Amino acid sequence: MRRAASDTREYRRRRQRRLGAYWVKPRPREGFNRERLPDPAAYYARELGKLGRISGDGWAIAHCPFHNDVHPSFTVNLRHGGWCCFRGCGKGDLVMFQQMKYGQSFVEAAQALGAWGR
Ligand SMILES: [Zn+2]
Repeated sequence: MRRAASDTREYRRRRQRRLGAYWVKPRPREGFNRERLPDPAAYYARELGKLGRISGDGWAIAHCPFHNDVHPSFTVNLRHGGWCCFRGCGKGDLVMFQQMKYGQSFVEAAQALGAWGR
């Protein structure tokens, strides 16, 4: 049997009233907020200095900041912030880069990047 629109409305109202007793509005959580990470292109330009030619999908070649790099063996994506060293220093994202470069914990790195908060 099909319910009349007014019944549905009444049902919703009752359910809302019932839930109202238990429903506590969640407070915004203090923590990592990926949305607030700096723009990868600006961040890496600051951290790595001169970057090589940028490929169509955003990857650029640079000197690796984690080992004594004579020939550029580091690649970084200026769109999503991912990076990789072909000499085995590792790979990761923008936060991981900050952690490795400055020896920070994840939280410290997120804070330094302005991506920690509510
Ligand atoms: Zn390296």
